[in-house]
Amino acid sequence: MDNRWTLLVHGGAGMMTRERLTPEQDKGTRAGLNAALDAGSAVLAAGGTALDAVAAAVRVLEDDSHFNSGRGAALTWDGAAELDAAIMNGRDRRAGAVAGVGATRNPVDLARAVMEDGAHVLLSGAGADDFSLHRGLAQAAADWFVLPERAAQLEELKARGGTFDVEMKYGTVGAVACDAHGHVAAATSTGGVTGKRWGRIGDSPLIGAGTYADDRSGAVSATGSGEFFIRAGVAHEICARVRLTGEPLQVAADAVMADVAELGGSGGVIVTGPEGDAVWSFTTLGMNRGRVTSGGERTVAIYNDE
Ligand code: ASP
Repeated sequence: MDNRWTLLVHGGAGMMTRERLTPEQDKGTRAGLNAALDAGSAVLAAGGTALDAVAAAVRVLEDDSHFNSGRGAALTWDGAAELDAAIMNGRDRRAGAVAGVGATRNPVDLARAVMEDGAHVLLSGAGADDFSLHRGLAQAAADWFVLPERAAQLEELKARGGTFDVEMKYGTVGAVACDAHGHVAAATSTGGVTGKRWGRIGDSPLIGAGTYADDRSGAVSATGSGEFFIRAGVAHEICARVRLTGEPLQVAADAVMADVAELGGSGGVIVTGPEGDAVWSFTTLGMNRGRVTSGGERTVAIYNDE
């Protein structure tokens, strides 16, 4: 057994610049990313699995209102939180996902319950909420997810005459990890994009678009303009390039992000391979991101010049 492990987290990609973020947003975002790295790395340092590590990291980010998932999620045009999440294990390519849920405190736990149940990969809406109750998962009322700050952002968007948010300043969250046994996993969780149409599902819960993990290549969690990530099949495409052509992770990630840009989309990805190699790639002004390794290296960054 090789003892090297790696964990990467993201908290969204978008128009993050030093001018746009308040000092509190900058500080809170970095603290949240660090807390997620702490939670996931505690699992990996104790010899735990990549799957447990990504779930632990994402749970922390879901509970943190600086990010667009769980508490403080982006709201639909109607002002509701419709949450999407997915998790995938690279060892056996088992996967679970939920879309349009609104009652489970930690949607990533519900995605994992779908995966562990094994009958289905993706559950949506009322059926997924019902499954959550059956599995005895912690529930939360709408006021846990829907915060006044997000409602104000929705109102601003409507006042500007926008249809849905293109700035994506408060991002989706995700994590990818490679554990000491050489297994990879990925998880992603989001409220989607502010002002999205009721019933809209983004890339995050779609296995192969926003989330993918395969021990033969790597694990990917994406963030950005979801419609384009779905059309490009981003997460699977990166893994397929690595597996079939032997491309380094960075080359594959940059190429697929360039493809997204060509379609008109923007955003970023975090990727880790089964050797513990890890990269990120983004086409936006900023991406909330962090990385920690068994060697003790830790990076947390927001802006594109960091
Ligand atoms: N990709 C997410 C979605 O389209 C949004 C984000 O990453 O901020 O639902």
